[in-house]
Amino acid sequence: MNLTRATLRPDLAILTMAGFLDARPRVGYFYTGKTGSQLLTEKVKKITVQQYQSIPVVVNESSSVYDAIVTMFLEDVGTLFVVDQNSSLMGVLSRKDLLRASIGSQKIETMPVSIIMTRMPNITMCQKDDLIIDVANKLIDKQIDALPVVREFDKGSGLEVIGRLTKTNITKVLVDLANDELI
Ligand code: ADP
Repeated sequence: MNLTRATLRPDLAILTMAGFLDARPRVGYFYTGKTGSQLLTEKVKKITVQQYQSIPVVVNESSSVYDAIVTMFLEDVGTLFVVDQNSSLMGVLSRKDLLRASIGSQKIETMPVSIIMTRMPNITMCQKDDLIIDVANKLIDKQIDALPVVREFDKGSGLEVIGRLTKTNITKVLVDLANDELI
């Protein structure tokens, strides 16, 4: 083709970065044998929760259902996490949990969220180093919109909520993959 190595180098570098080629000293460039979809799968299976997690919004377990609804609107989230006075995770509140409580006969101004939340140990959660694909599977399996990212404290007796992983975060992964802009 009458092309010098220098001319080809940028193209070879792109193919190497994409995983189609590999380079070894004294061997040079060689084809890895991996298809585009194999490389995509490898890429997806390396993405971790901490790369995509959002900031969590928490309420205290003694907060009223009314206050939780106001927080949900002000913070513009669909899921709230409930913590105790030690900031340890106690429960989860979804939009429909709050809606259900609102159409009930009890007064939401005095009803604590602890009565209506989904509580520990039935909370599905994850840690920052978990793979995003495992979290996506949990969201589908459990039919939920979000889960808390937690870290143990007090030798595992408490769970600090350090993040929030939602279906929107998973959608962002898809968009970044399509734009080849994986962070
Ligand atoms: P919605 O109830 O608004 O459709 P979800 O599908 O997220 O929202 O929630 C469905 C039910 O599952 C609710 O009762 C909620 O409390 C509960 N839930 C939501 N997220 C979790 C979670 N991470 N772990 C356990 N239960 C959850």
